[in-house]
Amino acid sequence: MNTDVTIIGAGPTGLFGAFYAGLRGMTVRIVDSLPELGGQLTALYPEKYVYDMPGFPAILAKDLARQMAEQALRFGPEVRLGETAQTLERTEDGWVLGTDRSEALETRTLLITAGPGAFQPTRLGLAEEARFEGRGLRYGVRAKGELAGRRVVVVGGGDSACDWALALSEVAREVTLVHRRDGFRAHEETVKALRESPVRILTPFTVSALLGDERLEAVEIARTDGDGRTVLECDDLVVNIGFKSSLGPIRSWGIETVGNQIVVDSAFRTNLPGVFAAGDVCAHGSKLKLIATGVGEAATAVCFAKVLLDPTAKLFPGHSSEGELPPAPSLTEP
Ligand SMILES: Cc1cc2nc3c(=O)[nH]c(=O)nc-3n(C[C@H](O)[C@H](O)[C@H](O)COP(=O)(O)OP(=O)(O)OC[C@H]3O[C@@H](n4cnc5c(N)ncnc54)[C@H](O)[C@@H]3O)c2cc1C
Repeated sequence: MNTDVTIIGAGPTGLFGAFYAGLRGMTVRIVDSLPELGGQLTALYPEKYVYDMPGFPAILAKDLARQMAEQALRFGPEVRLGETAQTLERTEDGWVLGTDRSEALETRTLLITAGPGAFQPTRLGLAEEARFEGRGLRYGVRAKGELAGRRVVVVGGGDSACDWALALSEVAREVTLVHRRDGFRAHEETVKALRESPVRILTPFTVSALLGDERLEAVEIARTDGDGRTVLECDDLVVNIGFKSSLGPIRSWGIETVGNQIVVDSAFRTNLPGVFAAGDVCAHGSKLKLIATGVGEAATAVCFAKVLLDPTAKLFPGHSSEGELPPAPSLTEP
């Protein structure tokens, strides 16, 4: 059956768009290339506090993502994770979206909330890397408890790597932070806390080899300012040297872009009929890349999509407090 709106991207904007479309009685499909809901909140900074969400003086990004996911799933949208949108073709009744796992997802309208594009972690670039992925080598941590009692090497020098090294030091048997430069690019307070923590800091080093048989057992690190090499035994290696993102295939859909963003009008319509864009991915005269502004854009886009599908519908739906909602699903993980 043709879905009313397919949302590409399950970051905060897409999640709120899914809730709002459900509220407006639309059928909804969510597609995201990541294995979990939450976009940048879960992929880039799950353990950081967000201070600028209405109603939450301070909330951990992962907790905000979990609450937004719970809200998004309230009306039972179809959720397709680990799936990247790749092609888009016009039909009589809307569009057909092709992904890397499905060729024909029919949809009447589309809401693109793809942020900076599909995320891929930056890899170390070592030949044996693929062999150890999922066998001791990982590019992110969902919850620090996953590495409780283990010997962990974290690679990276930005906020995310430093935050994870600190958070893991509370539960891991030992944590070593390896960075290719002496200075860190993280907040001053984080670096100060790191230096006062039990985390062993090794700079300026880079990981030069991954060692092990079936599973990762050690990493070899090499000085970046000389010839020294050392082998560190470990159970897990967390590589946290950033994400690469790109709109990629979305650019080939004939959609108008500026830089890495999609041009929209004040109703968040793109130049393609029935295709809307909101959140970090969209470009307009007063664009601010914030969660609070993105969710408002998503609600507006959904209301215009609703009226496009049903010209008798009102643009302004009234307030959510005026109706009975189905019970929210209970989620333990985002
Ligand atoms: C370190 C850091 C701290 C931040 N702190 C704050 C803060 O305190 N307050 C605040 O308001 N903002 C903050 N931001 C910004 C905020 O995270 C973004 O504005 C917000 O995540 C944008 O949400 P979004 O849903 O538009 O996009 P994203 O969160 O980027 O989500 C986009 C999703 O689309 C998916 N996707 C992309 N392309 C495809 C495709 N082709 N197929 C399938 N899926 C695709 C991606 O995998 C991703 O999950 C911070 C950002 C960073 C990096």
